Amino acid sequence: MSGDATATGGPGAGGAAGPGAGGLAVLYRGPLASCNYDCPYCPFAKRHDPPDVLAADRAALERFTGWVAATTDVRLSVLFTPWGEGLTRRWYREAMVGLSHLPHVDRVVIQTNLAARVDWLADADPARAALWTTYHPGQVTRERFLARCARLVELGVRFSVGVVGLPEHLDEARALRAALPPHVYLWVNAADGHRYDAAQEAAWTALDPLFGYSVRPHLSLDRPCHAGETAISVRGDGTVRRCHFVDEPIGNLYDGSWRAALRPRTCVNGACDCHIGYVHLKPLGLRDVFAGGLLERIPAGWPPG
Ligand code: SF4
Ligand code: SF4
Repeated sequence: MSGDATATGGPGAGGAAGPGAGGLAVLYRGPLASCNYDCPYCPFAKRHDPPDVLAADRAALERFTGWVAATTDVRLSVLFTPWGEGLTRRWYREAMVGLSHLPHVDRVVIQTNLAARVDWLADADPARAALWTTYHPGQVTRERFLARCARLVELGVRFSVGVVGLPEHLDEARALRAALPPHVYLWVNAADGHRYDAAQEAAWTALDPLFGYSVRPHLSLDRPCHAGETAISVRGDGTVRRCHFVDEPIGNLYDGSWRAALRPRTCVNGACDCHIGYVHLKPLGLRDVFAGGLLERIPAGWPPG
C-alpha cells in the first residue's frame, strides 16, 4: 500500500473522492467455486466445477489481469478471493506472478488453503506477491502445512496463516503457533454462528491478539467505509460493487464506469462481520493496524515488540 499519487485524469484527480495516493484495493472473485478440500464448515467443500465453468473462470481472470496491466494511472493492489481454491489452477498462479512484476501494482495476494506446491512463487516479485493462507485441520497434516510455510519463508514471500476458531481446532492452532516462526502472523476467524464466552475468547486472543475484531460483528449502518472509495469488489464479468457484502453494483470495470463511481460512502448494511469487509470500515482504524499488509492480513510492525 505504498506509492505515488494518482496520475492526472485518474480516479480522484482534482477532487477528494477516489483512491488518491493510497491507491485502489481491488478484491476479485470470478466464477470458480471448486475446492480440493472437504472442510465441514464450508459450502464449497469438494465441489467440482464443470469444464465450461473453469474455461469461463480462466477467461474472466485473463480479462481482469489485462485490465490491471492496462490501468497504469492508478496504484493498484489486488486480492483474489475465490469461493473455492484458486492456486490449484495454473491461471491463478500465472496471474500472481505476472501482476507482481507490474510497476503500478503494489501488492497481489490470494486467499489459499496452501494445498498446492508454492515453488512457482520463485518467479514472482517477493516484494509484491503475498499469500493469505488458512490451515484447515483434518484436511492436511500440520507437518505438511508447516513444510509449505517453511518453503514460503525460504522464498522470501510474505504470508499470513489463519485458522477458523472452532473449539476442536484450538489444540492444533496452539501447536501451529508454537511451530511457526514468530515473524509469521497467525490470525483467527471467529466461527460462524459460534458464541465465545470470556474464557474461550481469551484462549483465542492468546494466539491472535486481534481476535477481538473478529469475535463480534461491527455495527456499520451509515458509518463511513473505504469500500466504494478506495476499495472495490469485482466479479468475473467486471461488475463493480463497493464490497463483497453489498449486492448493488456501482459500475463496471470494463466500460470505465468504475472511475466515476469512486467516492466517499457510508455502509448500507446493519453489520459487517468479515475481515475483508470491516478492515475498510473507517471508524475501526484497521488500515493503520494493517498498514503495509492490508490485503495479506499482516499487522504493521509484526511481531509486536
Ligand atoms: S479449503 Fe476453503 S474453500 Fe476449500 S473447503 Fe475448506 S474452507 Fe472451503
Ligand atoms: S462496512 Fe462492510 S458491508 Fe459495509 S460497505 Fe464496508 S465492507 Fe461493505
